[in-house]
Amino acid sequence: MPIDPTRPYDENNIFARILRGELPCSKVYEDEHVLAFNDINPLSPTHILVIPKGAYVSWDDFSECGSAEEIAALVRAVGKIAREAGLVERGYRLLANVGLESGQEVPHLHVHIFAGKPLGPMLA
Ligand code: 5GP
Repeated sequence: MPIDPTRPYDENNIFARILRGELPCSKVYEDEHVLAFNDINPLSPTHILVIPKGAYVSWDDFSECGSAEEIAALVRAVGKIAREAGLVERGYRLLANVGLESGQEVPHLHVHIFAGKPLGPMLA
């Protein structure tokens, strides 16, 4: 069910629970501000989710309320994960769904990294 990005942060969303260690994940990367893990239902051979540790519903509130340090950490982490996974040569795709018409389902900002096959056109 797509979520409304303007609603308050839900402390019990799945990614908040992963961050608190209440649910497992297949961790790819972690630093002070960022956690990355494999998507549970991968849509490409490599499908990684990169999330800030702070409580942000989507790119909308993160871009407005995130600190410069948190924003830089997320951007740098995405690049580092892609480089370390060897994705740069063949290429990869970044995607962040925001709100209702995007189909965003988990109300904690996440950047998808897709790679490992030709990804085709952006929108169906
Ligand atoms: P969205 O549609 O919100 O942009 O993407 C949510 C993503 O989270 C989906 O690709 C979905 O497969 C993934 N996901 C949902 N629940 C879990 C979970 O419990 N663990 C992991 N690793 N991924 C999840």
